[in-house]
Amino acid sequence: MPKEVLQRSEKEGITYFFLPRWEASNLVGHGFSSRRGGVSQAPYDELNLGYKGGDRPQDVQENRRRFLNIWKKKKQDLFYGEQVHASKIILVDEKILPAGYGELCAADALITREPGVVLGAFAADCLLIYFLDPKTPAIGLAHAGWRGTMLGIAPGVVRAMQNNFATRAESLQVLMAPAIQPYCYEVGGEVLQAAAAARWKTDFVFWPGKKKNHPYLNLPETNKNMLCRLGIKKENIFISKYCTHCNPDLFYSYRRSGGKMTGSQMGIIFLR
Ligand SMILES: [Zn+2]
Repeated sequence: MPKEVLQRSEKEGITYFFLPRWEASNLVGHGFSSRRGGVSQAPYDELNLGYKGGDRPQDVQENRRRFLNIWKKKKQDLFYGEQVHASKIILVDEKILPAGYGELCAADALITREPGVVLGAFAADCLLIYFLDPKTPAIGLAHAGWRGTMLGIAPGVVRAMQNNFATRAESLQVLMAPAIQPYCYEVGGEVLQAAAAARWKTDFVFWPGKKKNHPYLNLPETNKNMLCRLGIKKENIFISKYCTHCNPDLFYSYRRSGGKMTGSQMGIIFLR
Protein backbone atom coordinates (compact mmCIF):
# COMPACT_ATOMS: atom_id res chain seq x y z
CA MET A 1 0.00 0.00 0.00
CA PRO A 2 1.59 3.29 -1.06
CA LYS A 3 1.92 6.00 1.54
CA GLU A 4 -0.71 8.74 1.68
CA VAL A 5 0.61 11.71 -0.30
CA LEU A 6 -1.34 14.36 1.59
CA GLN A 7 -0.46 15.77 4.94
CA ARG A 8 -3.19 16.65 7.42
CA SER A 9 -3.01 19.99 9.16
CA GLU A 10 -5.02 22.14 11.52
CA LYS A 11 -5.22 25.89 11.44
CA GLU A 12 -7.72 28.19 13.14
CA GLY A 13 -9.74 25.14 14.16
CA ILE A 14 -10.03 23.81 10.62
CA THR A 15 -8.72 20.45 9.48
CA TYR A 16 -7.42 20.40 5.92
CA PHE A 17 -4.98 18.58 3.65
CA PHE A 18 -2.07 19.60 1.44
CA LEU A 19 0.76 18.15 -0.61
CA PRO A 20 4.00 18.81 1.30
CA ARG A 21 6.18 19.24 -1.80
CA TRP A 22 3.92 21.97 -3.19
CA GLU A 23 3.72 23.70 0.16
CA ALA A 24 7.52 23.62 0.42
CA SER A 25 8.00 24.99 -3.10
CA ASN A 26 6.54 28.40 -2.16
CA LEU A 27 5.22 28.55 -5.71
CA VAL A 28 1.60 27.86 -4.83
CA GLY A 29 -0.81 27.95 -1.95
CA HIS A 30 -3.29 25.08 -2.01
CA GLY A 31 -5.47 22.90 0.17
CA PHE A 32 -8.40 20.51 0.38
CA SER A 33 -10.92 20.95 3.18
CA SER A 34 -12.39 18.43 5.57
CA ARG A 35 -15.79 18.86 7.25
CA ARG A 36 -14.20 19.79 10.57
CA GLY A 37 -14.09 23.27 11.96
CA GLY A 38 -17.02 25.28 10.57
CA VAL A 39 -20.34 26.65 11.81
CA SER A 40 -22.89 24.64 9.79
CA GLN A 41 -25.54 22.73 11.72
CA ALA A 42 -26.48 19.07 11.17
CA PRO A 43 -26.73 17.48 8.67
CA TYR A 44 -24.32 20.00 7.11
CA ASP A 45 -21.93 20.00 10.05
CA GLU A 46 -19.48 21.53 10.25
CA LEU A 47 -17.41 23.05 7.47
CA ASN A 48 -19.76 22.89 4.50
CA LEU A 49 -18.29 25.05 1.75
CA GLY A 50 -20.95 24.56 -0.95
CA TYR A 51 -24.25 26.37 -1.51
CA LYS A 52 -25.92 23.59 -3.49
CA GLY A 53 -27.27 21.36 -0.74
CA GLY A 54 -29.60 23.76 1.07
CA ASP A 55 -27.40 24.80 3.99
CA ARG A 56 -27.85 28.30 5.42
CA PRO A 57 -26.01 30.68 3.06
CA GLN A 58 -24.65 32.75 5.94
CA ASP A 59 -23.07 29.62 7.42
CA VAL A 60 -21.48 28.64 4.11
CA GLN A 61 -20.20 32.19 3.78
CA GLU A 62 -18.62 32.10 7.22
CA ASN A 63 -17.10 28.67 6.51
CA ARG A 64 -15.59 29.92 3.27
CA ARG A 65 -14.22 32.96 5.06
CA ARG A 66 -12.53 30.74 7.64
CA PHE A 67 -11.14 28.31 5.07
CA LEU A 68 -9.72 31.01 2.79
CA ASN A 69 -8.32 32.85 5.78
CA ILE A 70 -5.86 29.99 6.34
CA TRP A 71 -4.02 31.50 3.36
CA LYS A 72 -5.08 35.07 4.18
CA LYS A 73 -7.34 35.01 1.10
CA LYS A 74 -10.76 36.63 0.70
CA LYS A 75 -13.87 35.81 -1.28
CA GLN A 76 -12.89 38.57 -3.73
CA ASP A 77 -9.87 36.43 -4.69
CA LEU A 78 -11.93 33.31 -5.40
CA PHE A 79 -13.08 32.02 -8.80
CA TYR A 80 -14.91 28.73 -9.33
CA GLY A 81 -17.01 27.01 -11.94
CA GLU A 82 -20.73 26.38 -11.74
CA GLN A 83 -19.91 22.63 -11.99
CA VAL A 84 -22.47 21.03 -14.24
CA HIS A 85 -20.64 17.71 -14.83
CA ALA A 86 -19.53 18.81 -18.28
CA SER A 87 -16.18 19.67 -19.83
CA LYS A 88 -16.07 23.44 -20.21
CA ILE A 89 -12.80 25.02 -19.08
CA ILE A 90 -12.42 28.74 -18.44
CA LEU A 91 -9.20 30.73 -18.59
CA VAL A 92 -9.15 33.28 -15.77
CA ASP A 93 -7.17 36.14 -17.26
CA GLU A 94 -7.19 39.94 -17.46
CA LYS A 95 -10.41 39.76 -19.51
CA ILE A 96 -12.29 37.83 -16.82
CA LEU A 97 -10.84 39.44 -13.72
CA PRO A 98 -12.56 42.85 -13.99
CA ALA A 99 -15.97 41.13 -14.16
CA GLY A 100 -15.45 40.14 -10.56
CA TYR A 101 -14.97 37.10 -8.40
CA GLY A 102 -17.25 34.14 -7.81
CA GLU A 103 -19.00 31.58 -9.96
CA LEU A 104 -18.25 31.18 -13.67
CA CYS A 105 -21.13 29.89 -15.74
CA ALA A 106 -21.20 26.24 -16.87
CA ALA A 107 -17.51 25.62 -16.17
CA ASP A 108 -16.12 22.50 -14.51
CA ALA A 109 -12.47 23.54 -14.65
CA LEU A 110 -10.48 26.76 -14.48
CA ILE A 111 -6.92 27.63 -15.42
CA THR A 112 -4.85 30.75 -14.77
CA ARG A 113 -1.38 32.20 -14.57
CA GLU A 114 -2.42 35.30 -12.65
CA PRO A 115 -0.66 35.43 -9.28
CA GLY A 116 -3.03 35.66 -6.33
CA VAL A 117 -6.12 34.46 -8.19
CA VAL A 118 -7.62 31.62 -6.16
CA LEU A 119 -9.14 28.79 -8.19
CA GLY A 120 -11.73 26.82 -6.24
CA ALA A 121 -13.80 23.69 -6.80
CA PHE A 122 -16.27 21.67 -4.74
CA ALA A 123 -16.86 17.97 -4.29
CA ALA A 124 -18.58 15.41 -2.10
CA ASP A 125 -17.22 12.18 -3.69
CA CYS A 126 -16.29 13.59 -7.09
CA LEU A 127 -12.60 13.89 -7.84
CA LEU A 128 -10.87 17.28 -7.77
CA ILE A 129 -7.73 17.39 -9.91
CA TYR A 130 -5.12 20.10 -9.34
CA PHE A 131 -2.59 21.04 -12.02
CA LEU A 132 0.70 22.87 -11.52
CA ASP A 133 3.06 23.89 -14.28
CA PRO A 134 6.01 25.11 -12.23
CA LYS A 135 7.91 26.39 -15.27
CA THR A 136 5.45 28.98 -16.61
CA PRO A 137 4.17 29.07 -13.81
CA ALA A 138 0.48 28.31 -14.22
CA ILE A 139 -2.26 26.33 -12.48
CA GLY A 140 -5.53 24.56 -13.13
CA LEU A 141 -8.28 22.93 -11.08
CA ALA A 142 -10.88 20.49 -12.39
CA HIS A 143 -14.02 18.85 -11.01
CA ALA A 144 -14.26 15.30 -12.36
CA GLY A 145 -17.05 12.94 -11.48
CA TRP A 146 -17.76 10.08 -13.81
CA ARG A 147 -19.43 12.33 -16.37
CA GLY A 148 -16.62 14.86 -16.50
CA THR A 149 -14.09 12.04 -16.60
CA MET A 150 -15.86 10.47 -19.59
CA LEU A 151 -15.91 13.83 -21.34
CA GLY A 152 -12.17 14.17 -20.83
CA ILE A 153 -12.13 17.18 -18.52
CA ALA A 154 -8.63 16.32 -17.23
CA PRO A 155 -6.97 15.98 -20.65
CA GLY A 156 -8.93 19.10 -21.62
CA VAL A 157 -7.18 21.07 -18.88
CA VAL A 158 -3.79 19.87 -20.10
CA ARG A 159 -4.61 20.96 -23.67
CA ALA A 160 -5.91 24.32 -22.45
CA MET A 161 -2.71 24.90 -20.46
CA GLN A 162 -0.61 23.88 -23.45
CA ASN A 163 -2.52 26.23 -25.75
CA ASN A 164 -2.68 29.21 -23.42
CA PHE A 165 0.57 28.97 -21.47
CA ALA A 166 2.79 26.76 -23.66
CA THR A 167 2.82 24.34 -20.73
CA ARG A 168 4.91 21.22 -21.35
CA ALA A 169 3.28 17.95 -20.35
CA GLU A 170 6.54 16.53 -19.01
CA SER A 171 6.89 19.29 -16.44
CA LEU A 172 3.24 19.30 -15.34
CA GLN A 173 2.45 18.10 -11.83
CA VAL A 174 -0.97 16.76 -10.85
CA LEU A 175 -2.68 16.21 -7.52
CA MET A 176 -5.84 14.17 -7.06
CA ALA A 177 -7.72 15.00 -3.86
CA PRO A 178 -9.65 12.68 -1.53
CA ALA A 179 -12.63 11.26 -3.43
CA ILE A 180 -14.81 8.20 -3.50
CA GLN A 181 -12.40 5.28 -3.92
CA PRO A 182 -13.12 2.33 -6.21
CA TYR A 183 -14.11 -0.20 -3.54
CA CYS A 184 -16.98 2.17 -2.55
CA TYR A 185 -17.94 3.21 -6.05
CA GLU A 186 -20.14 0.57 -7.58
CA VAL A 187 -21.62 1.76 -10.86
CA GLY A 188 -24.30 0.46 -13.20
CA GLY A 189 -25.53 0.42 -16.78
CA GLU A 190 -25.61 4.16 -17.35
CA VAL A 191 -21.92 4.52 -16.55
CA LEU A 192 -20.88 1.40 -18.46
CA GLN A 193 -22.71 2.51 -21.58
CA ALA A 194 -21.21 5.99 -21.43
CA ALA A 195 -17.73 4.54 -20.86
CA ALA A 196 -18.06 2.21 -23.82
CA ALA A 197 -18.90 5.19 -26.03
CA ALA A 198 -16.29 7.55 -24.58
CA ARG A 199 -13.30 8.66 -26.58
CA TRP A 200 -11.15 7.64 -23.62
CA LYS A 201 -12.75 4.22 -23.14
CA THR A 202 -9.48 2.27 -23.11
CA ASP A 203 -8.33 4.32 -20.12
CA PHE A 204 -11.25 3.37 -17.91
CA VAL A 205 -10.38 1.26 -14.90
CA PHE A 206 -13.17 -0.93 -13.57
CA TRP A 207 -12.77 -3.46 -10.78
CA PRO A 208 -14.96 -6.56 -10.74
CA GLY A 209 -18.05 -6.00 -8.59
CA LYS A 210 -20.19 -8.26 -6.46
CA LYS A 211 -23.08 -8.09 -8.91
CA LYS A 212 -23.12 -8.71 -12.63
CA ASN A 213 -22.77 -5.51 -14.68
CA HIS A 214 -22.07 -3.52 -11.53
CA PRO A 215 -18.31 -3.06 -11.41
CA TYR A 216 -16.40 -0.57 -9.29
CA LEU A 217 -15.14 2.51 -11.07
CA ASN A 218 -11.66 3.75 -10.24
CA LEU A 219 -11.87 7.48 -10.94
CA PRO A 220 -8.29 8.43 -9.97
CA GLU A 221 -6.62 5.66 -11.99
CA THR A 222 -8.86 6.36 -14.98
CA ASN A 223 -7.86 10.01 -14.97
CA LYS A 224 -4.24 9.07 -14.42
CA ASN A 225 -4.29 6.87 -17.52
CA MET A 226 -5.70 9.71 -19.59
CA LEU A 227 -3.05 12.11 -18.33
CA CYS A 228 -0.18 9.70 -18.91
CA ARG A 229 -1.37 9.28 -22.47
CA LEU A 230 -0.76 13.02 -22.95
CA GLY A 231 2.82 12.73 -21.77
CA ILE A 232 2.45 13.55 -18.09
CA LYS A 233 4.95 11.56 -16.08
CA LYS A 234 3.61 8.95 -13.68
CA GLU A 235 5.95 10.18 -10.97
CA ASN A 236 4.43 13.66 -11.27
CA ILE A 237 0.91 12.45 -10.47
CA PHE A 238 0.07 12.41 -6.76
CA ILE A 239 -3.08 10.53 -5.75
CA SER A 240 -4.65 10.72 -2.31
CA LYS A 241 -5.89 7.42 -0.90
CA TYR A 242 -8.48 8.99 1.38
CA CYS A 243 -11.99 7.78 0.62
CA THR A 244 -14.70 10.40 1.18
CA HIS A 245 -17.30 7.64 1.48
CA CYS A 246 -15.46 5.72 4.24
CA ASN A 247 -14.56 8.66 6.47
CA PRO A 248 -17.75 10.27 7.79
CA ASP A 249 -15.82 12.14 10.47
CA LEU A 250 -13.65 13.83 7.90
CA PHE A 251 -15.60 14.16 4.68
CA TYR A 252 -18.98 14.76 3.13
CA SER A 253 -20.10 12.02 0.77
CA TYR A 254 -23.01 12.35 -1.63
CA ARG A 255 -23.34 8.60 -1.93
CA ARG A 256 -23.11 7.94 1.81
CA SER A 257 -25.91 10.45 2.43
CA GLY A 258 -28.14 8.48 0.09
CA GLY A 259 -27.78 10.76 -2.92
CA LYS A 260 -28.55 13.90 -0.92
CA MET A 261 -26.21 16.84 -0.77
CA THR A 262 -25.33 17.41 2.90
CA GLY A 263 -22.22 19.45 2.27
CA SER A 264 -19.16 19.87 0.11
CA GLN A 265 -15.44 19.85 0.52
CA MET A 266 -13.54 22.53 -1.31
CA GLY A 267 -10.21 22.54 -3.03
CA ILE A 268 -8.25 25.71 -3.72
CA ILE A 269 -5.02 26.60 -5.45
CA PHE A 270 -3.32 29.91 -6.24
CA LEU A 271 0.04 31.13 -7.50
CA ARG A 272 1.97 33.02 -4.87
ZN1 LIG B 1 -14.68 4.16 0.77
